[in-house]
Parts: sequence; C-alpha cells; structure tokens
Amino acid sequence: MNIHEYQAKALLRSYGAPVSDGRAVTKAEDAKTAAGEMDGPLWVVKAQIHAGGRGKGHFKEAEAGEKGGVRLAKSVEEAAEMAKQMLGRTLVTHQTGPAGKQVNRIYIEDGSDIARELYLALLVDRQSSRISFVASTEGGMDIEEVAANRPEKIVSFSVDPASGLSDFHGRRVAFSLGLTGGQVKQCVSLIKVLYKAFVEKDMEMLEINPLIVTPDGNLKCLDAKMSFDGNAMYRHPDIATLRDETEEDPKELAASKFDLNYIALDGEIGCMVNGAGLAMATMDIIKLYGAEPANFLDVGGGATKEKVTEAFKIITSDPNVKGILVNIFGGIMRCDVIAEGVISAVKEVGLKVPLVVRLEGTNVEEGKAIIKNSGLNVIAAENLKDGAEKIVKAVKG
Ligand code: GDP
Ligand code: MG
Repeated sequence: MNIHEYQAKALLRSYGAPVSDGRAVTKAEDAKTAAGEMDGPLWVVKAQIHAGGRGKGHFKEAEAGEKGGVRLAKSVEEAAEMAKQMLGRTLVTHQTGPAGKQVNRIYIEDGSDIARELYLALLVDRQSSRISFVASTEGGMDIEEVAANRPEKIVSFSVDPASGLSDFHGRRVAFSLGLTGGQVKQCVSLIKVLYKAFVEKDMEMLEINPLIVTPDGNLKCLDAKMSFDGNAMYRHPDIATLRDETEEDPKELAASKFDLNYIALDGEIGCMVNGAGLAMATMDIIKLYGAEPANFLDVGGGATKEKVTEAFKIITSDPNVKGILVNIFGGIMRCDVIAEGVISAVKEVGLKVPLVVRLEGTNVEEGKAIIKNSGLNVIAAENLKDGAEKIVKAVKG
C-alpha cells in the first residue's frame, strides 16, 4: 500500500525526522491561507500523486514552457496561483505511464535552500531477506540515470536482523554520502529514526530523494515515498486510514473489497479460476493456444455467489476482455455456487463476449444443469485443454 508524500512526511515528523513545515490542500481557495501560514521567502508547490518523477513530469494540455508537478514560488500569491493551476489536471511522469494521474491534492511546503541533493532508501531486500539501505551522493531527479549508467555511485548494504541496527550502519551511510563533522551525527540519528519507523510500521520501501544538505550544513528529508506491506495493515489501523483509493486501479480496488486475488494484465481473455495454482496453469494454457490472459483472478476456496458475481463484473468491466474462460475445480468450492454466481452476474451486467465454462468436482452435475437451463449462450468445456482451445478459437476465430 502506497501513501502520499505529505502523509509520509507527517509520519516521519512524528518520529522526529527533519522535514519542512507544510500543508496539504484539496481546494484552490485554501491554498493561499495554507501558504500564508508559512514565512517564506520560498514556497514549494507539489502535486500529490502516488508516483515519483513529478518534478520532471508534465501536465496534459500544458502550455508552452509550463513547469511540472513540483514548482517553486516566491510569494504566497504565486504559490496559490500554482496550486490552482495544478489541481484537477492530469500529471504524466515516467512512473505514471502515458495515461498520467489526476492531481486531487497539493502540498505546499516551506521552501529550503539546497547545498547538496543525496539519495537514501530503505527497502525489504527479498534476496537477502533483510532490510537494506541504498545510498548515493547523486540524489535528485536523475537517480534513474545514475542507476543505469553509473551504478558504482550507488552503495547498498543490509542489516542483520539478529544484531539489529547500530551506529555503525548510520556512519556507513554517512560516509557513503560524503558527510563530515556534525552531519555524520545527524545522519546516524536520522538512520535510527528511519529504521525504527520502517520496522514498526511494516514498511516495504522508504525512499528519501532528495535528502538534502542545507547551506548551513543540516540534513533534511525533502521528498518521501513510502509503501507498506498490505498484509500487515490489520495491525496498523492508523496507516490503513491513509489509503487513498482514488490512486488505485478501480478493478483491483473492487476486487480487494471482496477479498478476491485479482491482478489486471494486458491480454484479451478474462479468467475466473479458483486456486492460485490453477489460475497460473490456466494463464499458461491460454498462452499455449496463442492468446494472452487479461487478468489473474483467484476467487478462493470458499467463494460465495456474491463474490463470484463481483468477480465476473470486474472481468467484464475491462474493455480489453474479448472472451471469458471460467475454469473451476470444485473441491471446497461447489460448482453449483459458481454456476449461480455466473448466471446472476450475466443477468446483471449482460454478456457481450464469448463465455467458456469448464466445471469439475463437487456438485458438477448441478452446476452444469444450472448453466444449461439458464438459456444463456455459454460454451461448455470438458477439461482445461478443451476450455482453452474453445475460448481462444471463439476470440481469434
Ligand atoms: P519528484 O520529482 O516527484 O521526485 O519530487 P521532489 O519532491 O523530489 O522534487 C523534485 C525536485 O524539486 C527536487 O529534486 C529538488 O531539486 C526540487 N525541490 C523540491 N523541494 C525543494 C525546496 O524546498 N527547495 C528547492 N530549492 N528545491 C526543491
Ligand atoms: Mg523526489
């Protein structure tokens, strides 16, 4: 689960990390008041979307020379004007994809003077099964270029969970970042704070880019990107409330509400399957017969009729879906429940594409009878191979 920069900074602030004063606004009218609450002489006006690269991004239908999603203002009025310009527009960055993301919120921050821009991240490294630090002296908006062309400029090491974090790790980051004197001390305490927040809140990733050194030699977190382990949200109700559903894929969001395991993909064949293994086998065999799956969808073991109906609605709401394959092996799941769910979904949302249904297992005869007697135009399949062949043929001819 991802959160916005302004939320991440509030969390960092509560842990004692150095961040600037700032206000989030959703309405242009509030921007002036918000900016007026800070002293200036510099304000930063920042589009809040769940994607990085905002500074180098561009708005759709931008005027010639118009700046991206992070702008510097020299007065309260200018800051308010910039907020007004950005709100409601679509910002495209290298992380949003060409469709971009609508800006519904602006963060107005007390501007900082910058001497150096550094890069610092913490993440769960799956290879070492540990929390890793990633640090680079080359922070700022070109870190992707640094990673691609100058990887030696990026230092990474992990923390042994048995011995935990010690000052040594903080000093190692500090020296990697070329910090000296009092900055080393600041870095050691910052690393402690970040590590504590990371572990306590079950984060997956925390990226500070840039971490800056101010002209008077202090460290400050100027940007913050934070993501959390979705499976741990049950024990962090405070973090769970930070979720911004408008930032998520509507289909994946609907699926998560019904506890369906759904991932949208790029193909043309919608799949409804029970069990992750069978879902993967189904995707494989669709590819084997020359088509591509439009999604991964596991309705789970004990799915109800309502859950199946919802799953079907999610699949049909995808305009890329040119055909649907329902492949159910009923063990705990009963085939008649699946059949009823499919019928009720089709009655509710209609069926504009070919539908192949393969049922096997518990109550299979009842399930087949329900589909047969429904009068719907459903193609029955005998087994997995037959089902895949039939749906690919129905879609591709
Ligand atoms: P991103 O482009 O989405 O990563 O957004 P950032 O928050 O990292 O901002 C992009 C860039 O704007 C930073 O790398 C800085 O160079 C600049 N920037 C952000 N905040 C300030 C600030 O307070 N003062 C100055 N001078 N520049 C800033
Ligand atoms: Mg940044």
